Amino acid sequence: MNRFAWQCLRTIAVFAIIGLVTGLIWGAGNGLMAFLGLLSLWLFAHLWQIGQLIAWLERPKPSTIPTGVGVWQQVFNTLMLQAKSRKRRKQKITLALQRFYHASEVMPDGVMILNQEGRIEWMNSVAREHFMLQTDDVGGILANLVRQPEFHQFMANDAADALHELKLALPTRKGLPRTVIIKRTPFDKHMQLLVSQDITPMEKLNQTRSDFIANVSHELRTPLTVINGFVETMQDLPNLPADKREQFLALMKKDSDRMLTLLDDLLTLSRLENSDPSNKLQPINLSALVEQLSQEGITLSAGKQSFSTDIAANLWIQGVQLDLYNALSNLVFNAVRYNHEGGHIDIRLHTDDHITARFSVSDNGPGIAAEHIPRLTERFYRVDAGRSRASGGTGLGLAITKHALAEHGSRLEVESTVGKGSEFAAEFDLISKPQAVSLSGSDAPTELSTA
Ligand code: ADP
Repeated sequence: MNRFAWQCLRTIAVFAIIGLVTGLIWGAGNGLMAFLGLLSLWLFAHLWQIGQLIAWLERPKPSTIPTGVGVWQQVFNTLMLQAKSRKRRKQKITLALQRFYHASEVMPDGVMILNQEGRIEWMNSVAREHFMLQTDDVGGILANLVRQPEFHQFMANDAADALHELKLALPTRKGLPRTVIIKRTPFDKHMQLLVSQDITPMEKLNQTRSDFIANVSHELRTPLTVINGFVETMQDLPNLPADKREQFLALMKKDSDRMLTLLDDLLTLSRLENSDPSNKLQPINLSALVEQLSQEGITLSAGKQSFSTDIAANLWIQGVQLDLYNALSNLVFNAVRYNHEGGHIDIRLHTDDHITARFSVSDNGPGIAAEHIPRLTERFYRVDAGRSRASGGTGLGLAITKHALAEHGSRLEVESTVGKGSEFAAEFDLISKPQAVSLSGSDAPTELSTA
C-alpha cells in the first residue's frame, strides 16, 4: 500500500476515534454525525484541491501553481519542479532551433526539406532565391513550382539509388541565369534534403580559362603555321635563290618576334595578376617618365604623326616603375599605331591641386564605337583585329594597362568618337618629391627594363 493510502486510512481512523469519543459522551447519534461531518469536510477539502489542480493544468505556468496543504502540497511541489524543468528544456530546444535557423540563413548553399509528397516543409532564404520561391510557397509541391523538365526527371528518380546530383540553369530575377548543383539526400524514412549550390562564378572562371587557352592557341598557331610553311618550302627547295631565302627568313623572323612579344605580354599580365606590389613601391618621377614616353612615341611614329605635349614638371607618385611604364606606354604606342598618317597626338600631364595628377593621350585617329569601349581591357579584345595584328598588336596591351593602373590605385578612362579620335587617361595620387632624390639632384627614374 502506498504512502497516500496510509495517510487516508490514518485520517479516517482519527475521524472514527473522534466519532467514537463523541458517541460515548453525547450519544451514538451525535458520534456518527461528528464522524460523517469530519469525513465530508475532509472530502470537500480534497475536491477543492482537485478543482485547483484542474484549473492550473489548463494553463500550467510555474508562476501560477497553487499552494496545497498536506498531500496536495507535495503534489503541487512535484508539479512545480516538473513545470520548471519542462520550461528549461523548452528554452534549450528553442535556443538550439534559433541557432539552427541562424546558421542555415548564413549558409552559402540553399537547403530545403521535402516531405513524402514532395511538399516543401522548410527552406532557407538561399534556397528561396535559387528556386525563385516566396515564403508562402512552404507547403507547396516543389515539382509544381520549378518548371525545368530536367528537374522533374531528377525528382522522379528514386533518391535512394538514382542520380543524386543535377546541374541546372535556373532563371534569376536579374535576368542572367545561374548555374546550380542540386543534391538530394533521403533522411528520416520518407523525408528528403535538397541542397543547392550556386556554381555560376566557378563556371564563369572555367569559361574564361578555356577562352583564354583557345585565344592563346589561336594567336600562336597563326605565326607558327607561317614559319612551318617557310621551313617546309626551304626543305623542299634547297637551291632557293639567295634573295628569296633572305625574304623568307625575314618573314620567319617577323613571326617569331610576334610570338615572343605575345609571350612577353602574357608573362607581364600573369605577373601583374599574381604579384603583390606593396613591397615593390618606390617614388617615381611621373613627369620624367611621361617625357620619356613622349620621346619614344615620336620615335615610333617616325614622322608619320605630329605631336604636342604639355607635361607638368616634378610630379612624383608612389609606384612600380616597370609596371607604370608598361601601362602608359601602351596608351602612347596605341595612339601612334592606330592613328592615320598626318594625324595628331597630344600627351598631357597636369595637376590642379597638387594632390592628384591626370595623364592623358589624345589622338585624332579612327575613334572607337561606344559598344566596344567597356570591353577594350578584356584580354585579346580587338576592335579591328586585322589592323591590330598588322601593327604587331597582341590584343593584351590594354589588359596590361588596366592591371598595372589598378596596382597604382588608378583606373583607365576612355572617351572616343568614331571618326574624330580617342582620349585615354588615368589619375594618380601625388607624393612630395623625396628628400634623398632632391639632395642628389637627380630626377631620373630608375632604369627601365622593358624586355
Ligand atoms: P592591341 O595589341 O590589339 O593594340 P590593346 O589591348 O592595346 O590591343 O587594344 C585593344 C583594341 O583597342 C585594339 O585592338 C584597337 O582596336 C583599340 N584601340 C586601342 N587604342 C586605340 C586608339 N588610340 N585608337 C583606336 N583604337 C584603339
